[in-house]
Amino acid sequence: ASGYSLLRNPHHNKGLAFTEKERDAHYIRGLLPPVVVNQDLQVKKMMANIREYVIPLQKYQAMMDLQERNERLFYKLLIDNVEELLPIVYTPTVGEACQKYGSIFKRPQGLFISLKDKGKILEILKNWPEKNIQVIVVTDGERILGLGDLGCQGMGIPVGKLSLYTALGGIRPSACLPVTIDVGTNNEKMLNDEFYIGLRQKRANGQEYAELMNEFMSAVKQNYGEKVLVQFEDFANHNAFDLLAKYSATHLVFNDDIQGTASVVLAGLISALKLVGGSLTDHRFLFLGAGEAGTGIAELIALEISKQTQIPLEDARKKVWLVDSKGLIVRSRLDSLQHFKKPWAHEHEPVGSLLDAIKAIRPTVLIGSSGAGQTFTKDVVEAMSCLNEKPVILALSNPTSQSECTAEQAYIWSQGRAIFASGSPFAPVEYNGKIFVSGQSNNAYIFPGLGLGLIISGAIHVHDDMLLAASEALAEQVTQEHLDNGLIYPPFTNIRKISAHIAAKVATKAYELGLASRLPKPENLVAYAESCMYSPDYRNYR
Ligand code: NAP
Ligand code: MN
Repeated sequence: ASGYSLLRNPHHNKGLAFTEKERDAHYIRGLLPPVVVNQDLQVKKMMANIREYVIPLQKYQAMMDLQERNERLFYKLLIDNVEELLPIVYTPTVGEACQKYGSIFKRPQGLFISLKDKGKILEILKNWPEKNIQVIVVTDGERILGLGDLGCQGMGIPVGKLSLYTALGGIRPSACLPVTIDVGTNNEKMLNDEFYIGLRQKRANGQEYAELMNEFMSAVKQNYGEKVLVQFEDFANHNAFDLLAKYSATHLVFNDDIQGTASVVLAGLISALKLVGGSLTDHRFLFLGAGEAGTGIAELIALEISKQTQIPLEDARKKVWLVDSKGLIVRSRLDSLQHFKKPWAHEHEPVGSLLDAIKAIRPTVLIGSSGAGQTFTKDVVEAMSCLNEKPVILALSNPTSQSECTAEQAYIWSQGRAIFASGSPFAPVEYNGKIFVSGQSNNAYIFPGLGLGLIISGAIHVHDDMLLAASEALAEQVTQEHLDNGLIYPPFTNIRKISAHIAAKVATKAYELGLASRLPKPENLVAYAESCMYSPDYRNYR
């Protein structure tokens, strides 16, 4: 290859870090100014550039440009500055990027598959330059974060998730494939936006939708084999549960909104118990939002209670209550409930509002998973604080604009007593002379390590016990010092080490369950996981 094309190839480009020898050997001399710098100096310079931007979306664009120019430097930056850059490449900024994707998008960063491509999906997969794909994140854009239907512009989500697979979980970038399935959008704003990049039609559903998804899933298996991990992301719940159920039997699939979220929240609850006392079964859980996240978490909590106490799952479920847009989910509503809500329709008189539900159920733990912002009002937080010495309050909805309350509100309204964590990050809060640092309850803690664990063990199916193993592994990474500061999640700074631990526990479970195909089993799975992780350090070209 010519030096010029080497500089233009993001997988190979090192910019000013090409050495004198490399410049001679690869026809680069003259194409770069004379100085030779190391990667650390490049990181320093890029971070300074990014910090110059005040507007988060500009930081996002600078990061995307870097990813397209010099992939290793992009990952080095992200890994070395994860706390600072996560809110840029991920929630909340990625949400705004999706809303404006049509205007800011320069180069396609993943595969777009639309209704127009029916019958040709296998050919499309072959158009992607990489052949050895290990993880696919796919969305149809219908429920992007708490922002609703963004159609084809949801592509920002799979792209962002996969960059975390690499940065946090060490999956090679070339093994990651972001996919957006475009079946139209019901978002009028998108349909009327002249810069919209997707199909300009209402969403297909029913058989037409199912057939396209089926063709996609078959093509994936045919092209990449049965061990490629397919992560469903930000599908609306009327498709998400069905897709997961349908393809679990035949593919290595995983729904991050249902399962990853469940695992991360359970980990947070295991930590929180160390602060509030008691075991899971001693607590009562109330959710605002009974969709993918809410019922997914609820089910994993019930499963863990049932394992710990040997009580049947149906009885364990009675510790968990959910409120949806129509109020508390109760028995009398059973017939009109969507199937995923039915297990939660317990015997109780109807209750309309969240506040009344808190008064009726007297929960110790309140979890927001509705996608609607500002729903944990002062009254709500005060009611929780009246009932509990240390109320556990999780505001999971993303992005920040949809958060149920802010960290500041949670601490002030609870007079500093809340154990609080949120889906999108909040800065530390000062209250009564004390600094409160809240954790980020986000599936980004789980999916990269879970994916790594599945890959290194050659798992052929995702099992609920693997989600429980991932929760335990994450909770184990929370130290007494974190707890003393009210933190129920470890900082993201050590996330690669955390991911290796999660991967090892997940892989161990895969071997135990007979679901691992990589034999023999490595002796030390943590060390093995670490040894498999991608490093963003530059290679030498001879
Ligand atoms: P979903 O399947 O659409 O479920 C939303 C649920 O909230 C539905 O049950 C809906 O009620 C209910 N709801 C909506 N507005 C409400 C309101 N004003 N009052 C009461 N209930 C309301 O969505 P999801 O996949 O569960 O995601 C929900 C949110 O969680 C999103 O903001 C997403 O970003 C966030 N999330 C966070 C994480 C994380 O890691 N932190 C992970 C996944 C999702 P009906 O059923 O009656 O319509
Ligand atoms: Mn999601």
